[in-house]
Amino acid sequence: MLKFDNPFDGQGRWFKGNIHAHTSATDGQLSPDEVAKLYRENGYDFLGIADHNKLVIPKPIDGMIYIPCEEVDVPLSSYPGTSPRCIHLVAVGISEGLGLTPEEKTDLTPEDVIKMIKERGGEAILAHPYWSNLTIDEMLLCKGCIGLEVYNTYFQTMLDMGVASVHWDQMIQKNVPMLGFANDDAHSYSEKDDLLSDCCGGWIMVRSESLTADDIFNSIRKGLFYSSTGPEIKNLTIDGNKITVETSPVKTIAFHGYDMQGKFYYRRDGGLIDTATYEFDEYKIYIRIQCTDADGKMAWTNPIYFKDDLS
Ligand SMILES: [Zn+2]
Ligand SMILES: [Zn+2]
Repeated sequence: MLKFDNPFDGQGRWFKGNIHAHTSATDGQLSPDEVAKLYRENGYDFLGIADHNKLVIPKPIDGMIYIPCEEVDVPLSSYPGTSPRCIHLVAVGISEGLGLTPEEKTDLTPEDVIKMIKERGGEAILAHPYWSNLTIDEMLLCKGCIGLEVYNTYFQTMLDMGVASVHWDQMIQKNVPMLGFANDDAHSYSEKDDLLSDCCGGWIMVRSESLTADDIFNSIRKGLFYSSTGPEIKNLTIDGNKITVETSPVKTIAFHGYDMQGKFYYRRDGGLIDTATYEFDEYKIYIRIQCTDADGKMAWTNPIYFKDDLS
């Protein structure tokens, strides 16, 4: 009945990574090798450069694995009333780049591009739906994606449009089983004009047998990860009709559901909590858990689905 690969049940270890960053190969400010070094120095185990319409792999460095990624923007011009906006897709785990030119993309739909990504052995993630101002009908063109960016550091620091948890819930409530990714989409890598740096602000913690590109990618596509901008999710157990989560100290823990399911935990005195249990009495569609710490930093589990027809 339950449909959820629990990363906290699995074998292996946790590995930290970001699968959306830009380099000087397109519009990022650092070279691919500088970006890789920066993430390694900040404790990251894996990295996916996702430059615009170009597959870029930095030189190998100790302790860092690269997941081949590419960001593909797909114009919505073929849909009346949607021009000149674009849907951006992050291709993850591709065996070769797509490298599409604007002319080649003129007649392509998001479905076409997702198919091309899958043909290259990869998966697609819907990037920054909030900043892209996507309607639910436009997002549903991307139902072939394995997930969406519930957090995007670049658009959070630039425009306060990084958090897309409502977009995520809207897709799930249309029976589209999306995973939720916290990705940097890093461009500048430095603090300037009073803006925060756009790197190392959002990441995924992946449960994997080993630190190889294949194992990390396979864990990602199975949803064996959680996303964070700060808090640690330490454990998640499902025992009968009880879901218990343990976290680093946070201000709030929310169980988000549908149709009056879910619950919000916090202390009235503003103090911190580090665990919460939600007891459900009826299967609906899903529950997903998000928590927020005293600095406003967040973490998200992937959704626990209660319905079989979400495939
Ligand atoms: Zn983008
Ligand atoms: Zn990007």
